[in-house]
Amino acid sequence: MTADPLVLALTTALGDRAVLTSPEDRARFESGWRYGKGIARCIVRPASTAEVATALRLCGEHGARVVPQGANTGLVASSTPDMGGAMVVLSLERLNKTIEVDRAGRTVLVDGGVLLSQLNEALAKDGFWFPVDLGADPQIGGMVATNTGGTRLLKYGDVRHNLLGIEVVLGDGRVLTQLNRLRKNNTGLDSKHLFTGTTGVFGVVTRAVLQVAPLPKQRAVALVGCRDGDAVLALLGALEGELGDVLSAFEVMSANALTAVFAHQPNLRKPFAELPRYATLVELSSTLPADALALEAVLEARLGAFLETAGDAVTDVLVGKGDEFWSMRHHISESLRSEGKMLAFDIAVPRSQLPAFTADVEALLLKDWPLVRLCDYGHWGDGGTHLNLVWNEAAIGRPAAEVIAALQPRIYEIAVRGYGGSYSAEHGVGPHNQRYYDLYTDPLVKQLCALLGDFCDPGDRLGTVRLS
Ligand SMILES: Cc1cc2nc3c(=O)[nH]c(=O)nc-3n(C[C@H](O)[C@H](O)[C@H](O)COP(=O)(O)OP(=O)(O)OC[C@H]3O[C@@H](n4cnc5c(N)ncnc54)[C@H](O)[C@@H]3O)c2cc1C
Repeated sequence: MTADPLVLALTTALGDRAVLTSPEDRARFESGWRYGKGIARCIVRPASTAEVATALRLCGEHGARVVPQGANTGLVASSTPDMGGAMVVLSLERLNKTIEVDRAGRTVLVDGGVLLSQLNEALAKDGFWFPVDLGADPQIGGMVATNTGGTRLLKYGDVRHNLLGIEVVLGDGRVLTQLNRLRKNNTGLDSKHLFTGTTGVFGVVTRAVLQVAPLPKQRAVALVGCRDGDAVLALLGALEGELGDVLSAFEVMSANALTAVFAHQPNLRKPFAELPRYATLVELSSTLPADALALEAVLEARLGAFLETAGDAVTDVLVGKGDEFWSMRHHISESLRSEGKMLAFDIAVPRSQLPAFTADVEALLLKDWPLVRLCDYGHWGDGGTHLNLVWNEAAIGRPAAEVIAALQPRIYEIAVRGYGGSYSAEHGVGPHNQRYYDLYTDPLVKQLCALLGDFCDPGDRLGTVRLS
């Protein structure tokens, strides 16, 4: 029998299955995907909105801080407890039953703990999908809390763009319900925006109404070798101008990033004899069937025409092999990790500034850290760049922490103050980047967050991040 009165109260109210206390049971909730490792007082897994409210009330009564947790795929350490052993992890994994599709409305009402894959499997039966698409399998509540972007943001937008309504349990157990299903509804405050991208500090997302998209009937993918960043932007401009309606992804992979992929993924083969500075993955998709629109031929023709005008700015074009090209893209992060020490960035700058920004970072490395390699890649179509740095610790002869401390703040400074960019394009705010939030956020925005926090979470018990 546990001696912890909170565990006893939670177990009495929600049942044995809802509360996990042993180190073995807690382990998978205590470590994040990339960052974040701590010790939880216990894990509570409510299975309904009412149970989430009960859990939050009981945690409040026992003075416990609560970390909402979805699928734990976040990349800023915001979904795991600290090392103190006093925080409760509130996992939504059992709140995953409701998926109600309104076919004619092209919307779905979904529980916060439903996985993206689970949702898409259900939607496919009606010819739909939720088009916020990424290389992980998060929960819908976690996606709302981090405003997930993903690889097809260019065409479909982020979660905020596709979110119609929301149900949230506030810090003290009150339930705020604004499960709007309408696309047009201008009747005052649309509260969902408070809970989108604010990493769970204002409330726990228990249900959401999403607009969904018809499943594409075909895709056409090409890999275009570009001499430099300017060539990439010229290609993007040409494709948007002529094929904007069907352009669904525009991802960029640098030669250094791809070299790591081919070194560590034996199943993937180099597509070009010489890797260009950037290989650009272009994807078109359409709901028209292939007999109504020959998408691959359209892509081929357009890229052929671009090649003629681009001169040596474009080094090669390969059309087809979509799965292989996407597999290269999705294996970059893990391949870079196998190369040695890595410092990952999730930066956005205005799209037009991506070449200049990248050149500034290259110049900084060349001057001060010539043994650190820039292995950039990312969602250039949305102005996003995962500007990852890789190095061999023995060759540099300094501890990784020293390299990170020297480079991280300087690169964020160039991005944020130099280019009006963001230090967290799509991963949100967490302990991993809290100090940059503190540094770069307008004091009035912080004051506003303090007011909202007083209302939404009066006991200040939710989350691992401080937005005020
Ligand atoms: C391989 C990989 C690829 C990725 N690619 C992308 C990408 O392309 N684009 C992108 O945007 N992100 C990407 N991510 C990041 C990540 O998948 C997203 O941030 C994800 O949407 C988080 O959802 P989750 O359910 O895993 O949330 P968690 O990681 O569990 O939590 C994230 C944050 O949300 C809060 N939270 C979770 N659930 C709730 C809830 N129900 N109510 C309130 N707060 C909650 C947590 O407290 C935490 O602050 C990637 C991650 C990985 C591992």
